[in-house]
Amino acid sequence: MNYKIALIRGDGIGPEVVNEAVGVLDAVARKFGHQVEYVDVLMGGCATDAVGKSYPDGTAEKCRACDAVLLGAVGGPKWGADKPAEQRPETALLAIRKDLGLYANLRPAVLRPAMADACPLKKETAEQGIDLMMVRELTGGIYFGKRDKYQTEDRGVEATDLMAYSEKEIERIGRRAFELARLRRHKVSSVDKANVLETSRLWRSVMHRLAEEYPDVAYEDVLVDNCAMQIVRAPGQFDVVVTENMFGDILSDEDSMVTGSIGLLPSASIGDGAPGLYEPIHGSAPDIAGQDKANPIATILSVAMMFRYSFQKAAEADAIEQAVDAVLAEGWRTPDIAKPGEKAIGTREMGRLIREKIENR
Ligand code: NAD
Repeated sequence: MNYKIALIRGDGIGPEVVNEAVGVLDAVARKFGHQVEYVDVLMGGCATDAVGKSYPDGTAEKCRACDAVLLGAVGGPKWGADKPAEQRPETALLAIRKDLGLYANLRPAVLRPAMADACPLKKETAEQGIDLMMVRELTGGIYFGKRDKYQTEDRGVEATDLMAYSEKEIERIGRRAFELARLRRHKVSSVDKANVLETSRLWRSVMHRLAEEYPDVAYEDVLVDNCAMQIVRAPGQFDVVVTENMFGDILSDEDSMVTGSIGLLPSASIGDGAPGLYEPIHGSAPDIAGQDKANPIATILSVAMMFRYSFQKAAEADAIEQAVDAVLAEGWRTPDIAKPGEKAIGTREMGRLIREKIENR
């Protein structure tokens, strides 16, 4: 197959981790007989420096002309909150998600076997394993609702944020979750706050309707407060967890903590038709940028997700995930996942070892 991939290297450690991920992509392409063409797309703080805005004109069009987008990370103190919106890297992140219609954020939380001792949960809990897929609605809900702030006569200043969801928005993210469950362990847990919120009651009724369409998938409703507890009590019970934007934002960070390092977790943002965007869940880590200390695994595993979800190539995705597991099982660690006193290797060395595992399969 021929694939055209947009590379947004971004800021901080972004270019370093993308370099290693591209090395792995090339190794997989050679192994499985694919041709890959890369298109560099400038976005983030580096774009502000080069052309005066973080989201240069034509960014979305360049990405739309590709089959998938790989993003390192954008941001850094140089382009902070004191700068106008068009110069801030976060503006570009929200804009690209909106312009490409990326309404579903997939964040797998996997406790990799070799990393079991990095899990902060009880040993018995960690031994049961964690392998869940958080499916977070990404373009609706309270983060995109109408906001207001006004002076009242007797209560000082008051502020409101509107949480709104339509049946259409809920149905399309719900369908994604059920379809994903069919590729996994056939279970969907839908998280809401239906005992309080009207949006959650609508969410639940749409999910129940969908559950009838997918009789081969086990379905349960979970209240968000209970879900937060269950993730630390018995995360092994979850397969696909689907939820709205803000609940997903909070719960997916909780997931990342129970599985160990931020440097290990990939993500995918997908929509209908447009290219998916694949990126590590971490940021640009300015504190370690340019020092060959960043863990490239989250970005490398994002490439595995790209093969699995954008290209429907499970064997290629498996090859990458198995190479990562093999290197970790041999005890190789970047500084973020090394135990105190343990010798660590750099970004480039980690990339090379994973690449070699794929080449020598
Ligand atoms: P961060 O994820 O960049 O860093 C948090 C901590 O984790 C730091 O100590 C960092 O060194 C460490 N870390 C992160 N990734 C690592 C890796 N791959 N290997 C080893 N250690 C790693 O979060 P932050 O410090 O809050 O944010 C820094 C900048 O990144 C900010 O400008 C923020 O806006 C931006 N950010 C961007 C994205 C994105 O591009 N999607 C996401 C989150 C934050």
